[in-house]
Amino acid sequence: MTKVYKTSSAAETIALGEEIGRRLKGGDLIAYSGGLGAGKTTITRGISIGMGLGDEVTSPTFALVNEYRGDRLSLVHFDMYRINSADDLETTGFFDYMDEDTVLAVEWSENIAEELPEDALRIDIQRIDEDSREISITAPEGDDRFEDISY
Ligand code: ADP
Ligand code: MG
Repeated sequence: MTKVYKTSSAAETIALGEEIGRRLKGGDLIAYSGGLGAGKTTITRGISIGMGLGDEVTSPTFALVNEYRGDRLSLVHFDMYRINSADDLETTGFFDYMDEDTVLAVEWSENIAEELPEDALRIDIQRIDEDSREISITAPEGDDRFEDISY
């Protein structure tokens, strides 16, 4: 099931992210697609806020992975832009981070397409113009958590 949302500012994308963040649970994996500057890091900031983990999210471009730890739920944010082999992926700790209390959010998930779980939540962000984005959320069959979000 795919639901399409539109935002007309970064603030609106953060607000949508917050609502997504409130609906996430441990074990969820978000697989982003959408080019450079689409808003993947921006929406992740909203998701972190919605999960109660604060607004300090920055791009994991250099570190490859940033962790935001909470008492109940944690967020681990990856940038797979430079990942192009199974060995590279292994070194990010990707597989070790998957657990019941952790949400994974993966930028450039296209680069690890074969390693993504079947039930990944797909978030595609398309840049319409300077300030407008079309944000498509695809959840597995029967998962209606993201179908009716007001932001
Ligand atoms: P990505 O991680 O996809 O490369 P970023 O989130 O780092 O993208 O950057 C998105 C840029 O686009 C930011 O500078 C942000 O302020 C700007 N922007 C403008 N309008 C929007 C919008 N509607 N949603 C998200 N970001 C927006
Ligand atoms: Mg980014």
